[in-house]
Amino acid sequence: MQKIAIIGGGASGFFLGANLAPSFLVHIYEKATVPLQKVRASGGGRCNVTHACFDPSILTEFYPRGSRELRSIFYQFMCGDTMQWFEERKVPLKIEEDGRVFPISDNSLDVVETLIKENIKRKTQVHLQETVKAIKFENQRFKLETTQATEIFDAVVIASGSSRQMWELLKTLGHTVVAPVPSLFSFNCRDAFLKELPGTVFRNAEVQILDSSFRNAGDLLFTHRGFSGPAILVLSAWAARFLAEKKYQFQIQINFLGKTPDEILQGLKNFKKKHPQQLLTHHFPFELTKKFRKEFLKALEIPQERKYADLSNAEMQLIADFLSLKKFDIDGKITNKDEFVTAGGVDLKEIDFKNMQSKLIPNLFMLGEVLNIDAVTGGFNFQACWSEAAVLATYLNRL
Ligand SMILES: Cc1cc2nc3c(=O)[nH]c(=O)nc-3n(C[C@H](O)[C@H](O)[C@H](O)COP(=O)(O)OP(=O)(O)OC[C@H]3O[C@@H](n4cnc5c(N)ncnc54)[C@H](O)[C@@H]3O)c2cc1C
Repeated sequence: MQKIAIIGGGASGFFLGANLAPSFLVHIYEKATVPLQKVRASGGGRCNVTHACFDPSILTEFYPRGSRELRSIFYQFMCGDTMQWFEERKVPLKIEEDGRVFPISDNSLDVVETLIKENIKRKTQVHLQETVKAIKFENQRFKLETTQATEIFDAVVIASGSSRQMWELLKTLGHTVVAPVPSLFSFNCRDAFLKELPGTVFRNAEVQILDSSFRNAGDLLFTHRGFSGPAILVLSAWAARFLAEKKYQFQIQINFLGKTPDEILQGLKNFKKKHPQQLLTHHFPFELTKKFRKEFLKALEIPQERKYADLSNAEMQLIADFLSLKKFDIDGKITNKDEFVTAGGVDLKEIDFKNMQSKLIPNLFMLGEVLNIDAVTGGFNFQACWSEAAVLATYLNRL
């Protein structure tokens, strides 16, 4: 095998190019004017390259789609390998408190320039503003029709991200595409209760999507338009397909404190016993902002100036239920501009994960978001791209 076409000049395409042996003639086709656009914009311009997770089995838990298939891939190329790859090429990295890994410079251009430099070094031919329009498999070789030319290749790697045009093209080659739906979004909510509370954060809240088994715990944020924060974004990823089917009209139940109604009730009773003369407005046995306390007491029609001594058992039960079982109607989604991905893509059953090869057409390979693989936020989406590309490079380099 001599001549390889990579369709898509994004994360996975450039990482593959950078790791292929110089003996191959490699052409990358990119329809945009500049390559690696998502990498440039990633992590708010800082590029969350990977995650400090060094156990392949644990790493797979961050992938709502693709976790089973990625396991063997991660055993071959893990987050530590990614870190080593970039650091050896003079992109020093840092691990933040939550495990996300960024360049020390906080500048995604360092990652972009390294990927470009490595491809220049091995003489990859990058065709910018050249869209691949058709792929034909004839006599065990590929005929690629682009907006500028027609070329013959021994192997083709599809690294086109979430491109509908490419999914349509792959269908003509016999592949099945699981319909794409958005992942990683916030929930829109018009409930009047939220009006005065944007910016309120709850540590370790629990959010459950009613009429489903989807639930998640983590930090929850009230925004001007509804709910966001890791608890919601991660939940949206796991429930992406279910919520699309519901047309983003559903109900959630929030446990603001991550405690059972009984635990909250007991906490209130104990506090009442110890501090009967305290006012609700001044003290509360659980960590909640004063503003939030004011609003939920108003919603329950319990005066804030009430002393704990005058708080009835029924009122304490109302508070406990509100804080642990509050339901909200969700009316639509809000896409997170900093990082969003698509759930859906080429059916994983049609890919051999030993080498990322199509099971339908020999020497046709696929990497990255074109596949029905996606992760929650935290650097995991890039890690899947780097690992898949590294495994494919190893396979091709050994031929
Ligand atoms: C704003 C934003 C921020 C993000 N931040 C992070 C982050 O910090 N960490 C993380 O892990 N993930 C992040 N992600 C997700 C991550 O960027 C993607 O998962 C990753 O880029 C997918 O890589 P890919 O190679 O599959 O596709 P892409 O990087 O999307 O590259 C595909 C390329 O193919 C080109 N293409 C498509 N069709 C054709 C065609 N027919 N002919 C020629 N070229 C074609 C496209 O123009 C594109 O450049 C972010 C996503 C976004 C949108």
